Amino acid sequence: MAAPYIAGNHSLLSDLTQMRKNNHLPHALLLHGESGCGKKTIAKWFAMTALCEQSGSAPCGTCRACRLIAEDRHPDVLTAEHSGKRMGYLIETVRTIRAEASILPVEGERRIFLFTDADGMSIQAQNALLKSVEEPPPHAIFVFTTQTIGALLPTLLSRMTAKAVFPVARGECVETLLKKGFPEQDVQRAVSRFDGNIGKCIAYLEDDGLRQSADDAAKLTQLLADRNEYEMLRLLTAAAGDKERLRKTLLLLDTQLRDAAVLSMDGDFDRLGCDKNASAALSSGLTPRRAMQLHECILETIADLDGNVGAVLAVTALCAALASR
Ligand SMILES: [Zn+2]
Repeated sequence: MAAPYIAGNHSLLSDLTQMRKNNHLPHALLLHGESGCGKKTIAKWFAMTALCEQSGSAPCGTCRACRLIAEDRHPDVLTAEHSGKRMGYLIETVRTIRAEASILPVEGERRIFLFTDADGMSIQAQNALLKSVEEPPPHAIFVFTTQTIGALLPTLLSRMTAKAVFPVARGECVETLLKKGFPEQDVQRAVSRFDGNIGKCIAYLEDDGLRQSADDAAKLTQLLADRNEYEMLRLLTAAAGDKERLRKTLLLLDTQLRDAAVLSMDGDFDRLGCDKNASAALSSGLTPRRAMQLHECILETIADLDGNVGAVLAVTALCAALASR
């Protein structure tokens, strides 16, 4: 096993290795960036960097600490467990982590506590953690990942070193996916959907349901731009048999709409959706008011689906609303 490979984000990685070399690691690190861009992979890489036995070349990928972390069984690396639909954390979970943080490391000099996907962390849970992050035991390092920096309370945020994680260049994404053994043709389709977002590309390649949802959302965006109610209804009715797939399709359509809205305002942005050309078509003549109305229609339909309204009924109402706005 060689040093773990991370695509892109070179300056972030070099900042963090430099901190280790200077023996100046942050006590709380926030990695923020869009879903799928590698925050959890980098969090694990950071744990290796912090605990690697080869301080000069951390993370080496071969020492005992690096290997245990790679296999998710290092006794000094603890990941807080999510609970509930919003992927939050129970107060008890936070209390357990707090108690664990005061215990000395089992193997090396540090203990690492990971709070991944912390966007859904409640204010109570954040407050319960505040003191530990403010005055951490010398050996403790807290690592959080969120999609947006605003997910955390300013009081908590002010104690952290925040670092952005970005999707990689398209060529680097292709190279990474080919290295993982995906066929070239599929890889090209995936990057045409999600550019340099490796996580989303892998999900697209491995998850048939997501692939269909992304392809459907791309078509729907174009149909919405054309105000073609009939074809929208045909596509959505066909997808209505699988509620979970339909839900994903609508969430992706909403992301496409977000891209179109941003595009109609200033044109320069990180896109999040799954079809650049379709969101560009939708952006033409899109007013902020119409974008907001369409966004609300989509969210209402998702709420209807969650509230057990029949899927066919829900999509019929949606298509009528989308076409009339
Ligand atoms: Zn190592």
